[in-house]
Amino acid sequence: MLQLLSTDFDGTIVNHDTKPAVVPEMIAALRDLRAAGVKWAVNTGRTLGHMDDGLVREFALPVQPDYAIVEERDIYHREADGRWKPFGDWNARGAVLHDEMFRLAGPLLAEVLAYLERFEGVQNLYDKGRYIGCITATNGDMDHLCRFLDGLRARLPMFSYQRNTIYIRFCHEAYSKGTALGELARLLGLGHEAIFAAGDHHNDIPMLDGSFAKWVTCPSNSCEEVKLTVRTAGGYLAKGAASAGVVEALRHFGFWKNS
Ligand SMILES: [Mg+2]
Repeated sequence: MLQLLSTDFDGTIVNHDTKPAVVPEMIAALRDLRAAGVKWAVNTGRTLGHMDDGLVREFALPVQPDYAIVEERDIYHREADGRWKPFGDWNARGAVLHDEMFRLAGPLLAEVLAYLERFEGVQNLYDKGRYIGCITATNGDMDHLCRFLDGLRARLPMFSYQRNTIYIRFCHEAYSKGTALGELARLLGLGHEAIFAAGDHHNDIPMLDGSFAKWVTCPSNSCEEVKLTVRTAGGYLAKGAASAGVVEALRHFGFWKNS
């Protein structure tokens, strides 16, 4: 029985190219499923503040999630007063592992910065003085960077990254949207047969390969690697874009009907 939805946000729930950004059926489905006891987790590369900003201000969704997995890593649940609170000790344990990874990856990250000098228009991202990722001008530049990073990873396997189009965030290899979803499921006592997941880009692949969610889907705007992952996992490749595709998948799996 379906008990948890894990959805990416940008390109999966919200469509930045259409008005409305979220189809009315998506709102109706979220309302109906949550009323039936199904929980909704937004599983995103956004920070917690940026995600809330998107849900509440930018797109003003009338339905809000029960859980948030942010920066492809940290898990939060809502307090009774509506505020987000870390769920379990996963975030704290992850912070320790990331401190260790970034310490050991120092020389590699210096090589990354040197490598990026060949590209125009790169924006390097820092958090509290730590080099955490970058934005490239084009997807082609990011393809090159990912190949370069894959080479570096042979020297420090715990060093990994999460890519979303022209954005990349460095991370410990044990942390992804997939492993965070697995931890959320463990905390909730759910098996993968109770979980539906939807996403559209590279950073969504770890939650779409069938390991953590049985019912997987991707909207039509997904990148080819995501489509291949969903197809291989026996999931549903939607014809509609973003939330129109998610609604299509909920119907396909028999989880929601129009009332
Ligand atoms: Mg996305």
